Amino acid sequence: MLNLILFGPPGSGKGTQAVNLKERFHLLHLSTGDLLRSEIKQETKLGLEAKHYIDAGKLVPDAVVIGMIKDKLDQHDKDVKGIIFDGFPRTVPQAEALDKLLEEKKCPIKKVLALKVNDEELVRRMLTRGIISGRSDDADENISRGRITEYNHKTAPLADYYKAQHKFVEVDGEGSIESIFELLSKEIEKNKVAV
Ligand code: AMP
Repeated sequence: MLNLILFGPPGSGKGTQAVNLKERFHLLHLSTGDLLRSEIKQETKLGLEAKHYIDAGKLVPDAVVIGMIKDKLDQHDKDVKGIIFDGFPRTVPQAEALDKLLEEKKCPIKKVLALKVNDEELVRRMLTRGIISGRSDDADENISRGRITEYNHKTAPLADYYKAQHKFVEVDGEGSIESIFELLSKEIEKNKVAV
C-alpha cells in the first residue's frame, strides 16, 4: 500500500493536489475537512459540534477526527493502491493514533509530502477560495490568519515527528498547480518501487 500524507498549512493547496494525485496513483483520498463539512451539511450531532470549532478557525478535538478516520479505514475499498491523507493528522496525538491504526493493518505511512507556501500567499488563497466556495472559515481574514497561527502551534511540530521517521519531504508549493503536481508525483514515483 502506498499510504501518503499531504501536509501543509491551510491554503497550501493540499485539497487540489490530493484530488489530482488520487487520480494518477489510484489512491483513496481521505480529507478530514471534507468529512467534517459533509457532517455539517447533514446536520449530524458530530457536524454541529465541529462547526463551532471550524467557524472559529480552531482545530476540532482529536477524538472526533481520529474516530472519523478509524471508521473510514475500517470501511474502505481494499482495491485502492493506497491512501492519501489530506488535512490529517494535524496534531502529534493524531499522528500517533494514525501510526497505530496503520500498524494494525501492516501498511504504514510511506511518505509525508509537505507543501511550503509563505503566509501572505496563504491568506490571499484562502480569501479567494472563500469567495468562490463560500466556505465561512475562508471568508474572514482574521479567521484565516488565526488558522495559520493554529497550524504553527499544533500542526507544524509534526514535521519533526515525521523527520525522525525519515519520511518528511518538503516541496515548493508556490508554482503553478501543474508544476507542483509534477514535483509531488516525482517524489511519489521514488516510493512506488518500494510498494
Ligand atoms: P481543511 O478543509 O483541511 O482546511 O479543514 C477545515 C477545518 O476543519 C479546519 O480548520 C479544522 O477546524 C477542521 N479540521 C479538519 N481536519 C482536522 C483535523 N485533522 N484535526 C482537527 N481539525 C480538523
